[in-house]
Amino acid sequence: LAKRMKKSLEKKVNKSTLNEENIKDTLQEIRLALLEADVNNEVVKELISRIKDKALGGYIEEGANANQQLIKIVHDELQSILGQDKKGLDLNKKPSVIMMVGLQGSGKTTTANKLAYLLKKKEGKKPLLVGLDIYRPGAIDQLKELGEQTGIEVFEKGKQDPVKTAKQAIDYANENGYDTIILDTAGRLQIDEQLMDELNELRKTTSPSEILLVVDGMIGQEIIEVTNAFNKLLKLTGVVVTKLDGDARGGATLSIAYMTNLPIKFIGEGEKVNALAPFYPKRMADRILGMGDIETLFERAMESIDERSIEKTMKRMFMGQYDLEDLRNQLAQTARIGNLSGIMKMMPGLNGQISEKQIAEAQRKLVIFSILMDSMTIKERREPKLLKSLKRKDRIIKGSGRSEKELNELLNNFDKGRKQVLDMTKKFKKGGMNAFGKGKLP
Ligand code: GDP
Ligand code: MG
Repeated sequence: LAKRMKKSLEKKVNKSTLNEENIKDTLQEIRLALLEADVNNEVVKELISRIKDKALGGYIEEGANANQQLIKIVHDELQSILGQDKKGLDLNKKPSVIMMVGLQGSGKTTTANKLAYLLKKKEGKKPLLVGLDIYRPGAIDQLKELGEQTGIEVFEKGKQDPVKTAKQAIDYANENGYDTIILDTAGRLQIDEQLMDELNELRKTTSPSEILLVVDGMIGQEIIEVTNAFNKLLKLTGVVVTKLDGDARGGATLSIAYMTNLPIKFIGEGEKVNALAPFYPKRMADRILGMGDIETLFERAMESIDERSIEKTMKRMFMGQYDLEDLRNQLAQTARIGNLSGIMKMMPGLNGQISEKQIAEAQRKLVIFSILMDSMTIKERREPKLLKSLKRKDRIIKGSGRSEKELNELLNNFDKGRKQVLDMTKKFKKGGMNAFGKGKLP
């Protein structure tokens, strides 16, 4: 996924202008790459539509850095689906019970041991593993072997009823100073009622602080159905996605995060005992995109001054299409270029002589105007007449923390400027003279 996405992004969006037409191929590539990585179709649709909105909505400045900006958009959208921060475990109770559940072969037993090891090593916990899979031949022996490797005690009562064993394990933990109890429960190939009943009994008896669903990151679309089924019955507190080793596709995490709204708490990245890592949304977004260095790229994209954007606004003005989005782009450019007086001479309604003091005052205004415009939707900026609505105005005022007076000032200035622009272009078209006064176009 990573390589393919990166390649397609780099190839398709080079120096040209972003528009519906030439972004189409890129979006199609991203779409295919995501689908191939087993990301759920709904998630893919949502992602593509968000990326498209941002790419076409004026968030991207044209120019040589468009690809970097598009990568940044894709990254942001991936991350906004994956979540902002890592989500830890709630282990405040003494002892805390962590219940591992999931289908057979998903990695419950392996993960239970990895987790015990991690908690012991990183958080100084004293964990107790409890073998409750009485159905799968050799399951308890497997847990005991793993526990031996990590030096973690395993509590088990052979084929005794799991609910009873779990109760005894809690007593045992209390008596022997274990602070964390990890229940390794049985799985099935498919979800069945009998198993669910047993898990539910276990849940009621042990009141777990955490009920973690362990899912195999490679099982594909089924992953959502499985997660929802377990969650419905057990009220999961989180998900562990296993088998995301090496360059495995991370698409499953996207599907789970978007379709189930459950926090992913860990990912399994191999069979070894230390191959369990907290889930960092940002890292996963990086991984899906396949670049560790996205910030640097982004910084460079933002630092670069993009002259073509100014050109574009000029062209639009010329065609009588000047709106708030254009004004906003101009202001963004102004801020980046840092040379206000030069720009101000190009701004509609401001051509003429300006003193330093006026420039400073204008600078302040522009900041306020930018804040106000940031609180508008792209649609409102493209169709400023929508802003006649008091409800919209109210929302913008509240959202920006500015005053009604300032908003009206912005809108009045914009109206005046726009009229002037239209006037000038009309004159220019008629008389063939330079609408911007003397000399060549700025
Ligand atoms: P359970 O039936 O849910 O208890 O699953 P197990 O813990 O027995 O794991 C099933 C198989 O998956 C074992 O061979 C594990 O070694 C393997 N496994 C579990 N987690 C991972 C992982 O993150 N990466 C890889 N490569 N294998 C894993
Ligand atoms: Mg097992």
